Amino acid sequence: MAPLQIKKYPDKILRQKCTPVESITAKERELFDEMLFTMRHFCGIGLAAPQVGISKRFIIAEVEGVIIRLANPEILDANGSDIVSEGCLSVPDAKVDIKRPDIITVKGLNEEGKTIKLKTSGLLARVLQHEIDHLNGKLIIDHMSILTKLNFNLKST
Ligand SMILES: [Zn+2]
Repeated sequence: MAPLQIKKYPDKILRQKCTPVESITAKERELFDEMLFTMRHFCGIGLAAPQVGISKRFIIAEVEGVIIRLANPEILDANGSDIVSEGCLSVPDAKVDIKRPDIITVKGLNEEGKTIKLKTSGLLARVLQHEIDHLNGKLIIDHMSILTKLNFNLKST
């Protein structure tokens, strides 16, 4: 298997709202596998389909040996809050301190096409929220202060 190409900011696909996944078949499972392979290849801990050029609601995450593959993920409940510095394979030069809830309940379709509900906290909860942001066209730079953003845009052009 060869890794998929990672789309980088300011690629327009990263700004699109992704469409829902209709069903999970062998084809979708293959995409999950390719995404996992690609994420590991580039040493990431999460990846969303638009990052590999597919504008559909698929995400994956791998934190401390736990692998999550989800289609149409939806946050049902969020509690607590924490500020952690985040990076992104699609925005290679940026590190942004982002405040997010740190306990979330997520619903979605797993790789077998079954609806699952997952309550998670800490780093995995953070990664899932970061990837769900991608499905809505949102990037870590959108969480930057105006001054930091200005500085980042100057450096990246
Ligand atoms: Zn990202």
